[in-house]
Amino acid sequence: MAYSYDDQNIFAKILRGEIPNQTVKETAHSLAFRDIYPQAPLHVLVIPKGAYVSFDHFAQEASDAEIVDYVRLVGEVCRMEGVEEDGWRLISNAGRNGVQEVPHLHVHILGGRILGRMLQ
Ligand code: ADP
Repeated sequence: MAYSYDDQNIFAKILRGEIPNQTVKETAHSLAFRDIYPQAPLHVLVIPKGAYVSFDHFAQEASDAEIVDYVRLVGEVCRMEGVEEDGWRLISNAGRNGVQEVPHLHVHILGGRILGRMLQ
């Protein structure tokens, strides 16, 4: 599948500094910031700075350095925010069936409460 990236999406605007965000940590290739409508006491979004729509797009086209930076930042946020011990959940919604609202790759890190069973 060929991906086309809409540079008017809200996370692209955040990356360009056109919209403010509550940054948790910024690295060379990635940004972690708080979700504006938190669904749990901890709700952080982690995005690559590059123009990638989904995990598949990222896995196909990102450099090893971008991928390593991104995965490391997800783990580091969990450690920094103190949820490693009690646990947390990682979600990435993709495409129409995944009900992805913002077409820039992101993972949601959720924690700070018991999140309930997602899959039966
Ligand atoms: P869904 O809304 O179905 O979870 P996504 O997985 O695309 O779809 O998630 C987009 C997330 O971005 C939502 O959790 C939403 O609250 C969050 N969001 C939207 N605008 C902003 C913003 N300006 N700053 C931080 N988070 C935002």
